[in-house]
Amino acid sequence: MKRSIYMDHAATTPVHSQALEAMMPFFGEHFGNPSGVYSKSRQAYEALVGARVSVADNLGCDSEEVIFTSGGTESDNAALRGAAYAMRDKGSHIITSAIEHHAVLRTCEYLEKNGFEVTYLPVDRYGVVAVDDLKKAITDSTVLVSIMLANNEIGTVQSIAELSQVVKAKARNRDIVFHTDAVQGAGALDIKVDNLGVDMLSLSAHKFYGPKGVGILYLRNMTPFIPQILGGGQEGNRRAGTENVAGIVGAATALRLAIDKMEENIRHCCNLRDRLIKGLMSQIPMIEINGHPTQRLPNNVNISLKYIEGEAVLINLDLQGVAASSGSACASGGESPSHVLLAIGVPPEMAHSSLRLTVGMGNTDEDVDYVLEILPGIVEKLRSISPLASMLREQRSIAE
Ligand code: PLP
Repeated sequence: MKRSIYMDHAATTPVHSQALEAMMPFFGEHFGNPSGVYSKSRQAYEALVGARVSVADNLGCDSEEVIFTSGGTESDNAALRGAAYAMRDKGSHIITSAIEHHAVLRTCEYLEKNGFEVTYLPVDRYGVVAVDDLKKAITDSTVLVSIMLANNEIGTVQSIAELSQVVKAKARNRDIVFHTDAVQGAGALDIKVDNLGVDMLSLSAHKFYGPKGVGILYLRNMTPFIPQILGGGQEGNRRAGTENVAGIVGAATALRLAIDKMEENIRHCCNLRDRLIKGLMSQIPMIEINGHPTQRLPNNVNISLKYIEGEAVLINLDLQGVAASSGSACASGGESPSHVLLAIGVPPEMAHSSLRLTVGMGNTDEDVDYVLEILPGIVEKLRSISPLASMLREQRSIAE
C-alpha cells in the first residue's frame, strides 16, 4: 500500500475531530443568523458569544477585543490598513521586516502607493530582526510597526516582547501601534497579548487544526482603527458581514485545544524535527539548514540541497507518498526565489533548492524514518542528472 505522510503543517493542518464535532450543529439545526431576534438566532448568537469569550480567554484579553475575520490574510490586511489610515494625521511611516508573509508585504506596498513610507528591516542570516535596527528606524512620523512572531518558511521566532517594548519606550507620549502576525505561532508559542506587548495580533484557524477561512484579529481597546469591510454592524462595527458561525465555533474549539495541549505538541514536534534535522544532516552531503538553530518553531525543518531544484525533490517525495513544500517558488507558483531565503543571504541558486518539512501531531517516528530512508536516494538521483552537479564534478576532476 502506498504511504501517505503529511509534512506540510505550516501550509495547513487537518481539522481536529473535536473542532469538527463542535461545528456540525451550525450547519444543521442551529443554522440561524446570529443577528436575528428569534430563538433559532439565539442559539447561533450564544455560540458566537461563547466562542469570542473562549478566544479572549486564550489570548488573555477582553472579548470585545476579538474580531473574527475570513483568515490570516484578512486579519493582516485589516490590522495594517485599519491602523495606518486611522493614524494618518499623526504620521505616515510604517516599519515592518523583509521576511513577512505576503499578506503583510503586499499590504505595505499598497500603503506605499497611497502615501505611506515603509521601512523594511533587514534580518540576520538566521532571520532575526535586530532590536537595535528597529530602535534606529523609528522616527517622529512612525505610526505602525508590524513584525511577525514566527516565520512560515524558515520557522525563525522573533523576540516580540523585546521589540514591542522598544517601540513603546520610543513612542513615549504618542501612539505607535504594534502588530504581530502570529499565524504560525498558535499552539507552539506564547500568544498571550500582554506577554507579547502587542496592540494587534493576527491568527488563522487552519494553522492550528481549525477550519479554513476563519481568522482572528486581536485589537487592543482604544487602538486607532478604521474598519476595512463595510456593511452591517457585526463584530462591533469593525468587520461587516454575517458571521461564519460554524467556522468561528470550530476556530475557538481548535484554539482552546491548541493552547491546552501546547506543551505536548511542542515536545512531540521538537522530537520529530530534531530527528529529521540530525538524520538529514548526517546522511545527505552538501546540505544547509535554513533558519535559526534554536529560536525556531518546534515543527519546522527548512533545508537547502545544493545543485538540485526543490520542486524536483517535492515531486519525487510526492511520488513516494510524502507531502512537503518548497521555499523556492512564490505562492503563485512563479519562478522567483523565496524573498525570505534571499533576505537571510541564501544565494538565488540555493534558494531554488530548498525544501520545507513541517511536522504535526499526526506524524510519528516511523514517518521520520521513512523520509530519512527515501530522501537521500532522491537527492542522489537528482544530483546524478543535475547539470550543475556534473559541471562541479568536471571542475573537480580537472583540478585533481
Ligand atoms: N501569515 C502567515 C505567517 C502565514 O503563514 C499565512 C498562511 O500561510 C498567512 C499569514 C495567511 O493566512 P490565511 O491562509 O489564513 O489567509
